[in-house]
Amino acid sequence: MQTNFSLTQLADPQIYSAEKILRACVHCGFCTATCPTYVLLGDELDSPRGRIYLIKDMIENEQPATREVVKHIDRCLSCLACMTTCPSGVHYMHLVDHAREHIEKTYKRPLFDRAIRALLARVLTDPALFRLAAVAGWLAKPLAPLLRALGLKRMAAMLQLTPSRRLAPPSVRTGKVHAAQGARRGRVALLSGCIGPELSPATNEAAIRLLNRNGIEVVVAMGEACCGSLVHHMGREQQALAMARNNIEAWTRELEEAGLDAILITVSGCGTAVKDYGFMLRTDTAYAVKAARIAALAKDVSEYLATLDIQAAAPPARLTVAYHAACSLQHGQKIAREPKELLSRCGFVVKDVPEGHLCCGSAGTYNILQPDLAERLRDRKVANIEKLQPDVIAAGNIGCITQIAAGTAIPVVHTVELLDWATGGPVPEQLAGLAGVEPAVAVTG
Ligand code: SF4
Ligand code: SF4
Repeated sequence: MQTNFSLTQLADPQIYSAEKILRACVHCGFCTATCPTYVLLGDELDSPRGRIYLIKDMIENEQPATREVVKHIDRCLSCLACMTTCPSGVHYMHLVDHAREHIEKTYKRPLFDRAIRALLARVLTDPALFRLAAVAGWLAKPLAPLLRALGLKRMAAMLQLTPSRRLAPPSVRTGKVHAAQGARRGRVALLSGCIGPELSPATNEAAIRLLNRNGIEVVVAMGEACCGSLVHHMGREQQALAMARNNIEAWTRELEEAGLDAILITVSGCGTAVKDYGFMLRTDTAYAVKAARIAALAKDVSEYLATLDIQAAAPPARLTVAYHAACSLQHGQKIAREPKELLSRCGFVVKDVPEGHLCCGSAGTYNILQPDLAERLRDRKVANIEKLQPDVIAAGNIGCITQIAAGTAIPVVHTVELLDWATGGPVPEQLAGLAGVEPAVAVTG
């Protein structure tokens, strides 16, 4: 794509990066076929190519964001299916992140929109606040249909996604070391983060047991917190960068004191953000090197487990698993094979979901901010999954798990919980009561 940025504009490192991305696009349109919003809406401006043109026009002409541009960028899920499809290697993720930051700086959203975004940015990144909000949401949950009928769809979506069960009591999550069983083969940090452990404490517990059982010591670094991904995708760049710096400091201390082989993440949306810390902080002279070092250590938990010789003594049950590939894992991190191979190795019958490249509609805060599109994508995803008649659905991202579980009666479980169960861990809570499900035979190690 031809661009016409001035030398003054190109002196800005962000514009410089954006210009390189724009020039890579040859407007072939291959990406439109796999873009969920284009598939649903059929509007070129809701396709990657259309959005690229909108972004180019806005930043090249130094224009404040308009309502029309904001509408189409807000509809983008940041699912990154377009990046997997693009033959020219266009880094759409960095471009749309830049556009979102520009929108945040130059566009004044309507009052309700600003209020709900501020609320989400505050509550979803702070476990203590999230716990309070979850109690309020749980009490108000029966009002969701009424709010929806009144047209307050975002509020209704928020209530619908509130956990139906009480959250487990709060626990001190960081600063703990979980020793390896037997001879120590490695040492990793595990991201605890923000609301993931509130929504599903069982996931990180399963990851720790599984890693320990395989000789890996796990530390949850003192002081680490939210990775910044949610606010980053809302264009709140300074808040996201502050969160990234905090985690970089926490992990660098661990790295320099006791050493780390990897930093593992069980929420693939967060993993995609941590792997991008090097880019996010590339112009920060105090953090650029440290950020690149931390980003290079970041791995999805399945990516790391695939390097270990995970063995199931006897499959706990011959269950059919529909593997839902989270966008952040398959498109953001290009991890597609490992989770399925691990599940197969542990005795599960693994099936791919038709249209597996299409997002389930979760996408961070998307299912709250764009409830109509998110629901259409969820229903399409659930219909595709149910065709497989699986016993269980596996996914590597709490956002997808929550989103899909809201649309089906089939249990949805994190991949790592199934692997832990198959190698001697407890039966995942969601599977209790499923016919034929027994505790696994423990593997001695
Ligand atoms: S596939 Fe890549 S090069 Fe083609 S229009 Fe889409 S982003 Fe541009
Ligand atoms: S990130 Fe997803 S929704 Fe956004 S343009 Fe790319 S394919 Fe479409």
